[in-house]
Amino acid sequence: MRWLRNRWRDAPDDGGADASERQRRSMVRDQLERRGVRDERVLECMASVRRELFVPGAAAFAYDDRALPIEAGQTISQPYIVARMTELLAIDDGDRVLEIGTGSGYQAAILAGLGARVLTIERHAELAAGATERLERLGVTGVEIRVGDGSVGAPEGAPWDGIIVTAAAPTLPEALRDQLAVGGRLVIPVGPKYQQDLVVVERRGERSWAQWSDGPVVFVPLVGEGGWQEGGR
Ligand code: SAH
Repeated sequence: MRWLRNRWRDAPDDGGADASERQRRSMVRDQLERRGVRDERVLECMASVRRELFVPGAAAFAYDDRALPIEAGQTISQPYIVARMTELLAIDDGDRVLEIGTGSGYQAAILAGLGARVLTIERHAELAAGATERLERLGVTGVEIRVGDGSVGAPEGAPWDGIIVTAAAPTLPEALRDQLAVGGRLVIPVGPKYQQDLVVVERRGERSWAQWSDGPVVFVPLVGEGGWQEGGR
């Protein structure tokens, strides 16, 4: 992870980096490995990115085993869920990945750390601006952040080697499935407002997809044309 400065470009290291590294190592061991995350590259990446830099108002809780609030009433997922979704995406160095729901930018930083070239779309301009600043100050490259409705995907960039949706859709958006490259995977929470299934779709051929569920999850809603309607229904 050569790109990773792991501290703000203009801030001296105050010694907090060591404590943070210890916390990351325990997070990887106790939350990720213990629950079955096996992909070494994902574990290494999760051990490298300073999560506290993505949750400014809640830095003390950055390595807790839970989701945390970020701006605009949204949340950054629990570390295990970030790791699990990344592992399920099964991306290789150089893959082109679409993320829907930039939020804090943490998941995008993890994807970039794995060598993916990422387009990430966020509907709240405020969040997109915060994520842009963070990734820039951390020296993360290979991530483009766009403001808009990502629920219909990004057809102009298709086919994507991977699509990860970090907000919950009421039903599987077909547009996203159609934008996958053959061999590519879509990872997306699907279901009602307060509990969903983490669905994995793998494109096997031009008109052939395999689909399975990885288990229950809880995400904030995907709001837009391919998701929930604005206002909550
Ligand atoms: N991946 C983020 C967490 C995302 S929380 C992280 O690592 O921090 C889910 C995000 O999806 C929220 O920021 C929400 O605003 C955004 N979102 C919801 N519907 C969206 C849509 N249609 N297009 C783009 N972003 C959307």
